[in-house]
Amino acid sequence: MERAVFDEAALQTDVDAKITAALERLAVAMHKSLWEAAYAEDLTATQAQFLTYLASMGNTAVSMSDLAHRFGLSLATVSEAVRALVTKGLLEQRRSANDGRVREVRLTMQGRRRVKALLHWADAIRDQVAALAPQAKGLLLDSLLELIARLQQAGLISLTRQCQTCLYFQPHRHTDPTAPHHCGLMNQPLPLTELRIHCPDHQTRPPAPSPSAPSP
Ligand code: SF4
Repeated sequence: MERAVFDEAALQTDVDAKITAALERLAVAMHKSLWEAAYAEDLTATQAQFLTYLASMGNTAVSMSDLAHRFGLSLATVSEAVRALVTKGLLEQRRSANDGRVREVRLTMQGRRRVKALLHWADAIRDQVAALAPQAKGLLLDSLLELIARLQQAGLISLTRQCQTCLYFQPHRHTDPTAPHHCGLMNQPLPLTELRIHCPDHQTRPPAPSPSAPSP
């Protein structure tokens, strides 16, 4: 029988279990850093994530369902966090001009000032990433983006605008190990370190057709 991921024996011998356990360690480090930055600002980790995400969107308003989709939360949880942020004066909420049924949120001026203290919550982790060898960074980015694309296909994470889920992405078209993939839009090889996680030109690739059912 297959051993559970965190089974001691699996962690000695099973590379899949070891990678999964390593990701869990990374998730703990990320959550700890985010939680500490949020706590210092008298916010929850979810509230801090909403503020930093909205800051990354500039002046663009984001719908409640977009927030739920991006962070894998229920609408009820999003509503609760948004209500608390509106009460603190950090977010404003209004009906969408395009569809009155849709509620959108954006940062207030006070929210823009406050979010500055949160924007560097992941710097300590990035410092350690920066210390990796350049070749290791390309391979790691490629592997992580492929894993994220698989998690998205399995319904475990929301769609990202990254190369591996893009219509224009042509994997392993070149023999150069430092730039094996190709962007059909730019019509040029993509160095591993230049793979995009949030590309403005991303076009979602339609799902592969399911294999036809065997004839009776
Ligand atoms: S358009 Fe952007 S996301 Fe798509 S393959 Fe090219 S660089 Fe990657």
